[in-house]
Parts: sequence; C-alpha cells; structure tokens
Amino acid sequence: MPDAEFEKARRRLASAASVAVLTGAGISAESGIPTFRGAGGLWKNFRPEELATPEAFARNPRLVWEWYDWRRQAIAKAGPNPAHRGLVQLEQAKPRFTLITQNVDGLHDAAGSRRILKLHGDIWHLRCTACGADWIDRRAPLDTIPPLCACGAQARPGVVWFGEMLPPGILDEAQRAAAAAQVFLVIGTSALVYPAAALAPYARRSGATVIEINLEPTPFSDIVDFAFHGKAGDLLPKLV
Ligand code: NAD
Ligand code: ZN
Repeated sequence: MPDAEFEKARRRLASAASVAVLTGAGISAESGIPTFRGAGGLWKNFRPEELATPEAFARNPRLVWEWYDWRRQAIAKAGPNPAHRGLVQLEQAKPRFTLITQNVDGLHDAAGSRRILKLHGDIWHLRCTACGADWIDRRAPLDTIPPLCACGAQARPGVVWFGEMLPPGILDEAQRAAAAAQVFLVIGTSALVYPAAALAPYARRSGATVIEINLEPTPFSDIVDFAFHGKAGDLLPKLV
C-alpha cells in the first residue's frame, strides 16, 4: 500500500467531525473468533447458512443451539483487540460518531464503545419463541439445550438470522449516520450480506469519504476512496 495514500486517508479521518463505521466479523478475527467466510468458520461440516436460519431452528432447535453454544464458548474466551480499542479512541475524539456492527459477539461493548447499532443482535441475548420475553444469559456452556423461558417455552438466540428482518428502526438510524458522515469506515466485512452491504455505497453517494480495511479485496474495494488490505488490528490503530 502506498504510504502517501494511507497518510491522505489518515488526515481525512483526523479532520472529520462526523464519522460512521461499519464493522463485520473480520474485526474480531484477531480476537480468535472465526468469521463465516474464509478458513476456520465451519462447525461439524455445516455452513452457517444452513444453521443461522428460522427454517433450521424450526427443523432442529437442538442442533442450532449446539452451534450457538459452541460459538458462545469461543467468544467467552476472547477479548477485544487493538482494532476494537482504536474505535473507542475514535469515538472519544469525534463530536458525531456512530458505530454500526454486524457482529453479535459483544466485543465492541467490552472494549468500551458507547454508541453501537447492532444490526444483527447480540449472541448473549435470548428471546422466548412464545411470549417474546428477552433477557441476557452469559453462561457458556449453557446448562440446558435448548434453553427455556420462565414461561416454559423454548428460547432462541437474540440474533438476526438469514432471511429475517432487522430490529425495527435500526436500519433507519444506520442510514442516517451513513448519510451524515464525512468519513465512513468499513472494517472486516465481506460486503455480501444486505442490507448492511448497501451502507457504504449509500454513504459515498451522500458525500462521505469511504475507507475500507480488509484482509483482502471485496466488492466494495472498487467503489471506495481508499482500500487498505491488511489486518484490522495493525491498520486501524495507525489510521486513528
Ligand atoms: P464475513 O465472515 O462474511 O467476512 C469477514 C471479512 O473479514 C472477510 O472479508 C475477510 O477478508 C475479513 N477479515 C478476516 N480477517 C480480518 C482481519 N484480521 N482484518 C481485517 N479483515 C479481516 O463477515 P461479515 O461480513 O460480518 O458477515 C457475516 C455475518 O456473520 C454477519 O451478519 C455477522 O452477524 C455474522 N458473524 C458475526 C461474528 C461475530 O460476531 N464475531 C462472527 C462470524 C459471523
Ligand atoms: Zn416465554
């Protein structure tokens, strides 16, 4: 990567008052949490697209919960890395800042980020399939699978599955932040999952400078102002 380009992006970010950030599974990869796409994402030879769906849960709630329990255990052992911490610093430095994440691991909270729009929910949240109650349960492993609500019905993970709607209002908020941003950062997302994938192009059309950090080129790389390829934990602290 040409240093002059990186320096230009760094200055652009430093002078922006309004910043929005979209993160994906790649920002947590260096914390030891597998991404969905790329090596290390498989569990018992299932693809995430076969497990993270309402149909899979209806067919076999136990199988889906075993996978979530496995992921919860991996996440419980992990902590935030320098990229998560860089975003905390950035939030503290900017008058207007929104962190939009597709991650469900809670590592942005653990690092100390304050304003977080969780597009896909939170893996520590459980939701009753009958009465709609929701609560936080941090036990990993869980002691019963599937876990039950106080009303006796089965709970499901408090996350958004493939084919489901996002939590009401959250996409509007994310779009407003993208439209208002002078700089929009996209970190560690493969840019394949909609509607999150539409946010960076939308920010760009609204006048933001878009900066991508990813291990490898993505469908975004051609439309962004700056694309830097490397580890988020290396590049982000330098950029901030
Ligand atoms: P993805 O798995 O589709 O893509 C991960 C991206 O991160 C890839 O483009 C990869 O090149 C990049 N990457 C990997 N390591 C990196 C590093 N060290 N630095 C920078 N980039 C790196 O992830 P996605 O785009 O977030 O979409 C998948 C869905 O999976 C999301 O909806 C999310 O909810 C869910 N998910 C979440 C977690 C988590 O919470 N940690 C983990 C896996 C999947
Ligand atoms: Zn209930």
